[in-house]
Amino acid sequence: MGFNHCGISRATTLEQEGLRLNQWLEAGYHAGMKYMERHLRKRIDPGSLFPGAKSVISVLYSYNPPQRFTLGGHFRIATYAYGADYHRVMKDKLFRLMKWITDRWGVTGRVFVDTAPVLERAWAERAGLGWIGKNTCLIHRKTGSYHFIGEIITPLELEPDEPIGNYCGTCTRCIDACPTGALTKPYVLDAGKCISYWTIENKSGKIPEKLRERFGSWIFGCDICQEVCPWNTKIPPHEEPQFLPDKRLLSMPKDQWMQLTPEQFSSMFSDTPVARAGYAGLMRNILFVSGH
Ligand code: SF4
Ligand code: SF4
Repeated sequence: MGFNHCGISRATTLEQEGLRLNQWLEAGYHAGMKYMERHLRKRIDPGSLFPGAKSVISVLYSYNPPQRFTLGGHFRIATYAYGADYHRVMKDKLFRLMKWITDRWGVTGRVFVDTAPVLERAWAERAGLGWIGKNTCLIHRKTGSYHFIGEIITPLELEPDEPIGNYCGTCTRCIDACPTGALTKPYVLDAGKCISYWTIENKSGKIPEKLRERFGSWIFGCDICQEVCPWNTKIPPHEEPQFLPDKRLLSMPKDQWMQLTPEQFSSMFSDTPVARAGYAGLMRNILFVSGH
C-alpha cells in the first residue's frame, strides 16, 4: 500500500501506558482538551474497540517534506499540515489493506487514524516501529519522527513484532529547544504550554499574552522539538504527491496573509489539517504572532 513501515502487536491491554495517561490527565497537562478524559477504557483496551481483537497492525507513513517553506516569507505551519488531510489519505490506504486481509483470511477489523481513542504511538512502539522519544514523538531509526500513524485492530491472530528499545540516550535537545518549556520533563508534554495546542486545539479565542514572544512565527503547530532531533537528520523525504503544498501557499505575499478572506481560507485549506483551526483560529494566530 506504500506505507513506510508496518508492525504487529498483540491486542492486549496497555496497563502501563494507561497509568501514565492517568497521571498526565491528573496533572492537567491536557489543558482544554476535555475529550482526552473520555473513553479511558477504550484508549487502553483494544477489545473494547473491536470485540475479539487479537492483533493491532500499526503503519507509519512519512510526511517529511522535500522542502520546507514559510508563508509570505515569514509565517510557519507544521510540516504535517503542508498537504492534503492525512485522515483521508491514510484511511484510503488502510481500507485497501483491510480489504486485502478480508479477501485472504475472511476476517474484518477496524481502521483508525487519529480519529478514535487509540494510543497510536504506544501501539507503534510495541510493534517495533520505533520508540517514543523525550519529545513524545514516535521515532524510527531510519526515517525519524515525521510520520502519520494508523492502525487496524483485527481478530486475525498474527505473529507480533518486538519493541526495539529507546535510543534517546543522554540527549536533551528537544527539551532545551522548546521555546515555551512545554516539555516539562523527558517524555512529558504540558499541552497548556505548547504552541501546537494554542494554535490548533485552543478554541477559547485567546492565546495568553505571556507566550507571545516565544511563538516565533508559528501560526499552525510547531516542529521545533522535531527539527532539533538528531534522528531527523538525513532522513528521506516523503513520496506522496497529496502531501505537497498548494502552490498558492508558496507564492502569496505576507500582507495578503494578514488580510486572508474566508473564501481564500476555504479554497486553500478545506482539505488540509489547517482546517481544524478554522478561519477565525488561523487569523487569530496570524495576528497574534504579528504583534496585534
Ligand atoms: S511542538 Fe513546539 S512548543 Fe510544543 S513541545 Fe514541541 S517545541 Fe515545544
Ligand atoms: S531530540 Fe534527543 S532527547 Fe529529544 S527525542 Fe530526539 S533523540 Fe530524544
